Amino acid sequence: MKVWCATGNPGKLREFQLAANLLAIHIEPLANLKSIAAPEETGATFEANARLKAEYYSLHAPGLLFADDSGLEVDALNGDPGVRSARYAGMHATDAANNRLLLERVRDEDNRAARFVCVIALARAGQTVATFRGSVEGRIIDVPRGANGFGYDPLFFYPPFDCTFAEIEGERKFDVSHRGQALRHMLDWLRTTYRNL
Ligand code: IMP
Repeated sequence: MKVWCATGNPGKLREFQLAANLLAIHIEPLANLKSIAAPEETGATFEANARLKAEYYSLHAPGLLFADDSGLEVDALNGDPGVRSARYAGMHATDAANNRLLLERVRDEDNRAARFVCVIALARAGQTVATFRGSVEGRIIDVPRGANGFGYDPLFFYPPFDCTFAEIEGERKFDVSHRGQALRHMLDWLRTTYRNL
């Protein structure tokens, strides 16, 4: 069985493809994604945005399609950047610009608790059939560390590994990450629902 995936984010795509290898699931990127106008992410929650994207892009896929919405919640910033993680420093902001702004905002904060959250929505022909959630707790450090991963990974310190998410290999991140958890939930659901998978 094949599921289509809609993401234009190269960091996420790398992780989804790694997942396909590790979980033995056939994930096919939606071929013509770039030629389809992107929907506006108007939802107030990760779930609303994941559903909105999955329902929209599933109209362009021949079968089940999933989309995710993910981001970083920082307790001292009342959950920001949250659903605005990708555009924290402005529309089309670079990871570096988002990271700079985050550092500026947490500079005087003692409480550095933060988590990555990922919600995956699975849809067919414009209708969501299921959603899956994953989250991982860590804290924001003052100086970026590591060159792997993407987004806020260099600032996200993960105590059980004693390093940031940008200092570990993709497979180790996937074992514990919000996206890894949500994908494994989706795979379990697919295996239960479609027993021939
Ligand atoms: P989305 O495409 O609206 O889901 O935006 C997700 C944004 O959240 C990304 O562009 C990153 O800035 C951030 N983000 C989500 N997951 C991760 C991760 O695993 N590592 C680092 N940043 C992430």
